[in-house]
Amino acid sequence: MGGDERSLGRDANRAPMALQEAVTASPHEWRPERFMVIVAHPDDADFGPAATAAAWIDAGSVGWLVCCTSGDAGGEDPDMDPLVLAATREAEQRVAVGIVGYAGVSFLHQPDGALANDLPLRELLVREIREFRPDAVLCNDPEMIFWSDGGVNHTDHRTAGMAAVDAVYPAARNPMAFPWLVREGLEAHRVRRLYLFWTERPTAWVDVSATLDRKVDALRAHVSQISDPDGLAERMGEWGADDGKRIGVASAEAFRLVVIDDEEEPATAAEAAAAADAAEGSAAARTASG
Ligand SMILES: [Zn+2]
Repeated sequence: MGGDERSLGRDANRAPMALQEAVTASPHEWRPERFMVIVAHPDDADFGPAATAAAWIDAGSVGWLVCCTSGDAGGEDPDMDPLVLAATREAEQRVAVGIVGYAGVSFLHQPDGALANDLPLRELLVREIREFRPDAVLCNDPEMIFWSDGGVNHTDHRTAGMAAVDAVYPAARNPMAFPWLVREGLEAHRVRRLYLFWTERPTAWVDVSATLDRKVDALRAHVSQISDPDGLAERMGEWGADDGKRIGVASAEAFRLVVIDDEEEPATAAEAAAAADAAEGSAAARTASG
């Protein structure tokens, strides 16, 4: 739907003022080998986690974008042909996909403004997940209904977030969910982590200082939706800077991280070293106490 610029809370990712001032967290280090971004509309991913996606892709991850709708209600003209608008917005999103560096994009062609978290949508999303087999899925925080500084989160955003969560867990990993998919060769797949964006309960901040420009460029590709490209760039810079303060970097994107399976190998050398130190510490403690 149109007006994501308006429907997004101006301070969607911000913590209360007292917390904003201090560096309270470290940059989030874990990186998925494969990740999927699931959103309601073309441009949501670019307003959302595009700079994180670009940073992970630059570091060697493979990303895939899924748009549940093609944004066919994203305008102000009731005489506009929605199919023409959908084609325009898909073309714009494909340009942005190239800028961010995703391996590709799927459009599920659900109705804009009327997205339903129903079983047909869940099956479509499970297909996407089982085909691409991501380690992490990035989606809207489905619990975000009313922004603390005013406004309502779009129904499609909430619905896409809940549908993505429900597809990840338990459906995608349960071979008895949509059992015909396994017979088609789409084996059950365990997504290990969810990164919820547009949240007011962030727990992880990714340093995007090096890729914020790509996010702005990707947003500029949505020509039919962007009325003030220069103001937009300024606003993205402000959002990124606000989140960056939390981890002491120029620019960051914030997520509410949900770890579903934590038995995985550490993803970075720093995390491996930290895990080894922790193991050594607990072994020493056992020795001391035993
Ligand atoms: Zn949207």
